[in-house]
This record gives sequence, structure tokens and C-alpha cells, in this order.
Amino acid sequence: MAKHTGFMEYSREDACKRAVKLRVRNFREFEEPISPDRLKNQAARCMDCGVPHCHTFGCPTQNRIPDWNDLVYKGQWKRALDNLLSTDNFPEFTGRVCPAPCEAACTLAINSPAVTIRQIELQIIERAWQQGWVKPEPPSFKTNKRVAVVGSGPSGLAAAQQLARLGHEVVVFERDDRIGGLLRYGIPDFKLEKWVIDRRLEQMQQEGVIFETQVHVGKDVSAHYLQRSFDAILIAAGATVPRDVQVPGREAKGIHFAMEFLTQQNKINAGECIDQNDRISAEGRDVVVIGGGDTGSDCVGTSRRQGARSITQIEILPKPPSQRVASNPWPTWPRILYTSSSHEEGCDRDWGISTKEFMSENGAVKKIKAVRLEWSEAEENGRYTFKEIPGSEFELKADLVLLAAGFVHLDHGPLVSELGLDLDARGNVLVDAHLMTTKPGVFAAGDAVLGASLVVRALYQGREAAAGVDKYLMGS
Ligand SMILES: Cc1cc2nc3c(=O)[nH]c(=O)nc-3n(C[C@H](O)[C@H](O)[C@H](O)COP(=O)(O)OP(=O)(O)OC[C@H]3O[C@@H](n4cnc5c(N)ncnc54)[C@H](O)[C@@H]3O)c2cc1C
Ligand code: SF4
Repeated sequence: MAKHTGFMEYSREDACKRAVKLRVRNFREFEEPISPDRLKNQAARCMDCGVPHCHTFGCPTQNRIPDWNDLVYKGQWKRALDNLLSTDNFPEFTGRVCPAPCEAACTLAINSPAVTIRQIELQIIERAWQQGWVKPEPPSFKTNKRVAVVGSGPSGLAAAQQLARLGHEVVVFERDDRIGGLLRYGIPDFKLEKWVIDRRLEQMQQEGVIFETQVHVGKDVSAHYLQRSFDAILIAAGATVPRDVQVPGREAKGIHFAMEFLTQQNKINAGECIDQNDRISAEGRDVVVIGGGDTGSDCVGTSRRQGARSITQIEILPKPPSQRVASNPWPTWPRILYTSSSHEEGCDRDWGISTKEFMSENGAVKKIKAVRLEWSEAEENGRYTFKEIPGSEFELKADLVLLAAGFVHLDHGPLVSELGLDLDARGNVLVDAHLMTTKPGVFAAGDAVLGASLVVRALYQGREAAAGVDKYLMGS
């Protein structure tokens, strides 16, 4: 363990964020690293709690957090890195964007602020890149087996890296023009600058991974072709179908899915020109974001940086409590009110609201008609239900509406139909314990299996699927 008395001596210290008025002027990341000495004190707060729930229960990829906290405390950064990389291919992604369920499960969090696990993870890997410790790890032998990975998000990338290191020839097919999935085109630069992805892709290419962009499997090449040309296929195609808000007036101009808006800004940040006729801009607009989750929050931060006149984020669910309730105890994920860095930058938030109609003038949206909801627990099955509060209808000014109401499932297009994949009741790909689908040799991982989830969960499933593929190909 780190320091026996560390958790009593040192308070939690979070990374310093650049002031709001400065950071909203651009799309750059805005958190500053903590000095090594102060980070050591943060690692020292990790106590000998016996059963580290952060590792066993909190972290989906089971990062061995107490071990690397101890190593950071002792100044053994290289060993901390080796330990971290043994479970997490891309700590520079998770260290930046993970909501850190590990911290929610930290034993300290029972009655005081958790260890700053995510920050320590990030600084281990960033120090490693600076020191030149992160090197390509090409395999020592080749298996002559070929694996096709469809989709280049964190799941596909983690699987590709694992499989290439095991000596398989790996080709990643991506329908977009750049590799990275939602890391590239969903998550805004102010949370994850894209050179961070490129740096990792370079390493993977040197390890033998081949990236094929602008290849839509099922359209540009058939899934049958992949079956004929590869020994195994991994579907890591994400859950890309957005949930629509189908109410009268939906066809009006100025109503867009969050991903259209976020992707465009990420492309602009990457230096691309967008045709003015296609440009979705929040500048000078009254923006309403429908959906209170992370995607909505990213729309808020992006709208703020684009110069929106006003930003309102509305959510159908009731406002969460500020503290854990009895039915949501430690170490489970706290279902409490969360204020993201984008919320800190300024927006109005409202809960328990249902959108009834988009009202337009000359074909362009101008207002939203909405109603307040009363939520209650249904007596018969304990599930929450809602009813509209009579007389609570109201209107919101809105000349840009961003739909961030979540994602339904993966695209059920030709990729799924050609391969004849079975789906579960929610429309996700059905897999066994080794993440093989009902078609032998075809595996699936990440959001395509889980439904819209988290980077760390997708990454973990990519690793697990790679193990499943390897066993299938090599017999052990
Ligand atoms: C706006 C937004 C912000 C988010 N922020 C966070 C966050 O801060 N922290 C966090 O942990 N999670 C976040 N998430 C969730 C996280 O990004 C996802 O859970 C994760 O990226 C899923 O990884 P994946 O590899 O399964 O799929 P994706 O990242 O979705 O990648 C799938 C890829 O497959 C490609 N593809 C699909 N079909 C085909 C085909 N037929 N042929 C070729 N390519 C295909 C797609 O183009 C896509 O690039 C966010 C999600 C969104 C939408
Ligand atoms: S990946 Fe996420 S849950 Fe796991 S240790 Fe890092 S921050 Fe915590």
C-alpha cells in the first residue's frame, strides 16, 4: 500500500481547470496536470482497505488501482505504467474521459472524497509518453491468421491492438474518414484532443495493424467478402442509431441530432471546411438541447464555444438528488445530480419535461412547446411512470434544437443482415461468454453488444473479444 496515514494527512486535490472565460474561447483541453510531488500525496491517500472495490467492482477493465497508486507513491513510474497497461490499452483515453466508476467505489468515498484515481492514471500514461516508454510491441511470431475488425472506436482499437500483438494480421475497417469512432467524432476536443488518438494509432500501425478508412462494410465491401477473406470477424460497430423525438413539427429546419452537430465541430477543429449551406452553428442562437446526459452536456460545451445566445438543456427524467439515497448505496454508481465542466460554463437546466411540439416560422424552428411531468413509482411493478401535469404547458425559445436523447442500438443495416446476426430484445448483437455471436467465427464487442455505454466498457469488451477470437483461431 501507499502511505498508511496518507488518507488522514492529505485532502483530495483535483486537477486545476482553466478559468471558464478563457477556456470557452477555444476547443482545447483545459485541465492542467498536478505536480509530481502533489500527485504522490494523492496516491498516498490510497489506503490498505483490504477489498479494493475500485478494482474489483468499480473499474470495468479491472485496472489494478491500489498497485499503481503504491508505485506512484514510491516514485516507481515505469512499473506503475507496466501495471496499468496490463489491463488498459489506452489509459490516455480513459484517463481523460472516464466518469471514473472506480472513484465512486473507492473505500474512502464512503465518508470522504475518493482518491483521484483517474488523474493518477492519466499522469502515469502521459509521463510515459513523455519519457518515451510507450513503444510499439510487435509480435515475435506471426500466426498467419487474418482478423477483420469492423469499427474503429475504443472497442475495435483495443481488440485490434491485442490481436496484432498476438501475431494475427489485423485489418480495421472504418466507414468514416478517420479512425477513432466516438473518440474522434463524438467526444469534443475540449475533453479529448485528437492528437492523443493519432499518437496511439501510430504505435498500432508499427505493431502491424492495418487501418482502412471510408470502407462501409455491407456497402463498400460485403460482409460475405470479409467472411471469405478473413479467419475471424469482430463487429465493433458501436450503437450509432440515435433516438428521435418524434413530435409534430419535427421536420422543421434547425433540428439536428447531437452527433451531426458534434461531428461537424470536430471536423472543423481538424481543419476541414464545411459548406456554409450544411453548417450547423449555435452562434447567436437560442439553443435547446433535449437530453440531460453526457452527449447533451457535450452539446452544451460546444454551443457555448460557438457563441450561443442562450443554452437550455432539458431532460424527461426527474431532477436527481444531490446525495445518494438509501437504495443507491456505496459502492454502486451514484445516481445523483452531476454538474459537468460544460454545465459549469453556463446553461439553464430543467428536468421532468416532455417535448410536445416543435413550432416553426417559415419552415425553421423557433420555439419548443413542452409540458412538465410528475414522476411516481408504479405500485404494481416498482417501475417509475409519469403523467403530464395539467396546465403546466410552456414554450421555450429555440432556433437550434439538438437531440441528445440517447442511442437505440447498432445500425441494423446490411452488416447485420448479411451475416445473419441474432439480436437481443434491445436490438444489440447477441453474444456468448467469449463474445462470439451466433455465427461461428464472428465476434462482437463494445456498444454494438452493450448498447450506448462508456469508453472503458467498450475497451474492456474489445480486450475480451480479442481473447475469444484468439482462442477460436488458435485453440487455446
Ligand atoms: C457525444 C458523446 C460523448 C461521449 N462521451 C463519453 C465520455 O466522456 N466518457 C465515456 O466513457 N464515454 C463517452 N461516450 C460513450 C463512448 O464514446 C462509447 O461508449 C464508445 O465510444 C463505444 O465504443 P465502440 O468502439 O463500441 O463504438 P464507437 O466508438 O461508436 O465506434 C464504432 C465505429 O464503427 C463504425 N462503423 C459502424 N458500422 C460500420 C460499418 N458497417 N463499416 C465500417 N465501420 C462501421 C462507426 O463509424 C464508428 O466509427 C460518449 C458518447 C457520445 C455519443
Ligand atoms: S478506466 Fe475509469 S474506472 Fe478504470 S481506473 Fe481508470 S478512471 Fe477508474
